[in-house]
Amino acid sequence: MHQATLAKPIKIEGQGLHTGKRTTLTLYPAEPNSGISFLRIDQKPPVRIEAKLENVVSSNRCVSLGKGEIVVNTVEHLLAALWGMGIDNALIEIDDEEVPALDGSASVFVSMIKESGIVKFEEKKRIANLKETLWVHKGEAHILAIPAPRLRITYLVDYNHNHASEQIGSFIINQEVFEKEIAPARTFGFDYELEELLKNGFALGGSLENAILITENGPVTPLRFEDELVRHKILDLIGDLSLIGLYPNCHIIAIKASHNLHLELGRKLISVFNRRCQLV
Ligand SMILES: [Zn+2]
Repeated sequence: MHQATLAKPIKIEGQGLHTGKRTTLTLYPAEPNSGISFLRIDQKPPVRIEAKLENVVSSNRCVSLGKGEIVVNTVEHLLAALWGMGIDNALIEIDDEEVPALDGSASVFVSMIKESGIVKFEEKKRIANLKETLWVHKGEAHILAIPAPRLRITYLVDYNHNHASEQIGSFIINQEVFEKEIAPARTFGFDYELEELLKNGFALGGSLENAILITENGPVTPLRFEDELVRHKILDLIGDLSLIGLYPNCHIIAIKASHNLHLELGRKLISVFNRRCQLV
């Protein structure tokens, strides 16, 4: 498997889910081994923030990367799209602090990556085989990572809600599965939490166009998959795991987890991979 980048630049505009600000993103091809980086071009001089675990500054409701005071919020769906489509290297110019929500999924990013085209390099992708079982947990949230020949993600959610009870999804993650089964799954929220979110400065750009709103009577807009919620959680997990900078071969089993726990697993994977040199 070889590293890849975009064939040509991609421009995307839209409103951020949490800040409500309109932003323009331009994704550029980048050299092998340069990874994924954001560049806040509205700053003088522009500030470069690498999409790495150590640059995560917050992971409450969404993942924010930062350097000093300068941040980029809600990076997870874009990062999942790049990772899912096999793009290892790209420079993302952004003119404000939040990645556009678009339709709340990764589908638009995926279509634009396909439209741009994918260029493969000679350099090999960084792939690591997990050799031991890892476990992270907090309260009733758990994630296990078990040795396996390729990446599989199994996820369970249960929001204890008439229209969001138990959903279990299990997928071997490759480009085709990502594109068809995971990328279209949209972010979601519950009507009872909306007031609190808005009060805390979240979901200010939220609408029925960029999120699934679930009420006592069910989702307000039609679902794309019966189990769209758990598929979206898998999308979030992929975006968060992309911050480890390599492809882990293992079976990840997540139960009622969140960005915080996804990132904790990422840190544990990195420390194990560094210790054991399990790169293949
Ligand atoms: Zn999400």
